[in-house]
Amino acid sequence: MLSNLATRDVETLIHPYTNLAGFRETGPLVLERGEGVRVYDSEGKAYIEGMAGLWCTSLGYGNAELVEVAREQMAKLPFTHLFGGKSHDPAIELAEKLKEIAPVPISKVFFCNSGSEANDTQVKLVWYMNNALGRPKKKKIISRIKAYHGVTVASASLTGLVNNHRDFDLPIANILHTACPHHYRFAEPGETEEDFASRLATELERMILAEGPETVAAFIAEPVMGAGGVIVPPATYYEKIAPVLARYDVFFIADEVICGFGRLGEMFGSPVMGMKPQSISIAKALSSAYLPIGGVMVPEVMYQAMLDESRKIGTFGHGFTYSGHPVTAAVALKTLEIYERDDLVGKVRKLIPVFQKRLGALADHPLVGEARGKGFVGAVELVADKATKRAFDPKQGVGARCAAFAQDEGLIARAMGDAVALCPPLVITEAEVEEMFDMLGRALDRTEAWVAKERLR
Ligand code: PMP
Repeated sequence: MLSNLATRDVETLIHPYTNLAGFRETGPLVLERGEGVRVYDSEGKAYIEGMAGLWCTSLGYGNAELVEVAREQMAKLPFTHLFGGKSHDPAIELAEKLKEIAPVPISKVFFCNSGSEANDTQVKLVWYMNNALGRPKKKKIISRIKAYHGVTVASASLTGLVNNHRDFDLPIANILHTACPHHYRFAEPGETEEDFASRLATELERMILAEGPETVAAFIAEPVMGAGGVIVPPATYYEKIAPVLARYDVFFIADEVICGFGRLGEMFGSPVMGMKPQSISIAKALSSAYLPIGGVMVPEVMYQAMLDESRKIGTFGHGFTYSGHPVTAAVALKTLEIYERDDLVGKVRKLIPVFQKRLGALADHPLVGEARGKGFVGAVELVADKATKRAFDPKQGVGARCAAFAQDEGLIARAMGDAVALCPPLVITEAEVEEMFDMLGRALDRTEAWVAKERLR
């Protein structure tokens, strides 16, 4: 029986990214409040938010400083915009701060409200730039199978997941997908990580040549792939991809929407993974998700092309009502200030070995085919047969069942197919990391018992 609130939910809301049919039976988990790394449901039960919401609430819950800065900015100037030459202090300061901390030289910052909008903007800016540079044929953008870049029309096209394309008539034209850099799943038998990386770089080059380098504009990559199942590219991957992109003048975009702001143990994920992108998408932890914000950090070469085009055609015709919203920008600025003041990234770096050791130990569990991760993000992939890596039938919903057991244990984890992920708030303590993995371990044991009872192997 669904509670009154749950029934009202089912009758009124379309839930994003939800099995709409199954949801009518189960109803929602209604969360009411949060404190630190914990959230509490409407019955008062506590959960460790092991996914930082959706990979985003880095400072956890109940951060009074963020609340206060939002209140102050709301009282002072709740809204103005950046259209047509207007501006305001929080947006200027935030852009300055981002330029200062960016891992590669950045000329300007464009603000939007989400990761999807950031990546849509990337696509449009690449097209705009290449028109400005007088190469109107150079428009194709290469993403990767299992990439996640969002759900708006262009960013969902960049996303390389079937559910985001099927029945939506996507991807749109000019978006291509190259191989997924997941060694466990896609390497040939006996192929080393390095050999696998070389093969992927060769495949990328073949794709560029087959399409015609004069038609290929950009390549986009998450440093570590998130919603595709937490996939860490093999050793030497980005160092082998980089010369291929350079050879054909293919613009390199990093999607730092998850990896940005400390997740991998440095402020940005790109240097951790050996990437030298030209432009960068940001969102999520930029404001610790207290308010929605996204952005694109643009290099000088792109800005100059835009400037030239604007001289010719006039207005740069792109921007959102809430681009650089003053309250959001003030909260983001305070978030960055807290990261720096509290040396949050330094603290995370000290805890990463604890997180990764507990994660790695799960590889011994009979259900776990691979335990993988980087920094403060990880996943276990559940398999029917460890030796052959045989997957469960997706219809059996083994990953979802494991996440449900975790929730029952008091841990919010996320199942992406049969990969169960953790991406906790960066403010988590060592004791809470241990507690989180204890709960996941119990959830795995319960899943194993359920798999045996139901004879799912
Ligand atoms: N890029 C990446 C790497 C993401 O993980 C996400 C969201 N999970 C997005 C883009 C899209 O962000 P949003 O949901 O804010 O549109």
